[in-house]
Amino acid sequence: MKPRPSFPVKLSVKDGALAPAVRPATSQSVARADVLKSPKVRAMPVSMGLGLDSSAVRAQMVAKLAAQGVQDELVLKAMGLVHRHRFVETALAGQAYEDTSLPIGFEQTISKPNVVARMIELLRQGVQGKLGRILEIGTGCGYQAAVLSHVATEVYSMERVRGLHEKAKKNLLPFRLPNVHLILGDGMRGFEKGAPYAGIISAAGGDEVPVAWLDQLAEGGRLVAPTVTSAGHQALVVIHKTNQGFDRQVLEPVHFVPLKSGLA
Ligand code: SAH
Repeated sequence: MKPRPSFPVKLSVKDGALAPAVRPATSQSVARADVLKSPKVRAMPVSMGLGLDSSAVRAQMVAKLAAQGVQDELVLKAMGLVHRHRFVETALAGQAYEDTSLPIGFEQTISKPNVVARMIELLRQGVQGKLGRILEIGTGCGYQAAVLSHVATEVYSMERVRGLHEKAKKNLLPFRLPNVHLILGDGMRGFEKGAPYAGIISAAGGDEVPVAWLDQLAEGGRLVAPTVTSAGHQALVVIHKTNQGFDRQVLEPVHFVPLKSGLA
């Protein structure tokens, strides 16, 4: 039998060596700004929590995501791999595969599967194979970090609420994802030690994109973040860093929790 990987996995980054830089995405392709509709998904019976197989209900969710327009095979595969029900309270496990956001405590929510898949697809536009190093702002319960771990070589995920940082650590431990690094810190400052990033993705929305994120993005990399637009509402904003500067696209309206500064 092959020896198991060493355990516990490295889940916290403080000081010290980081994984070597990975080449960022270089594609110039541009996404269509089409708005994904999110039809109400009927509740599905889920027999999780009892140790029963949840793969069928996950496959249904993935089929739904594909029908809603998600095309990236790697993203669909990752969405099919991660046990979303293990990131929410047991009482909510039955709703884990519905297209809905769910409370995770501390007045925060886990994003809808449809939004998670859409944002990661935008992050990966035109990239063949895995993305390089990614920075996620807003670890929350750790679900999206787990999905990202299957589409990127390294995931640095920051959370400002200590209770959620600890919760994500606990949630992620059984999955043994050595390429996920959780950081307790103010994501508005980014995480300089891991820069430059092939992608930056935020699960919290601010009035503007922090300058640190633009600085820490690699040339050729993409940033996907809910941001308040000039029209006064929150929308998904994609910024592509090129050797000429930044290309900015404003896509569909979204509703994310606010991006806040400092620790809590
Ligand atoms: N991706 C998460 C979604 C969490 S909701 C998941 O899969 O569960 C967004 C998170 O962003 C919240 O946990 C909130 O505390 C966090 N957040 C808001 N502002 C932040 C900041 N400046 N730095 C780090 N995290 C922040």
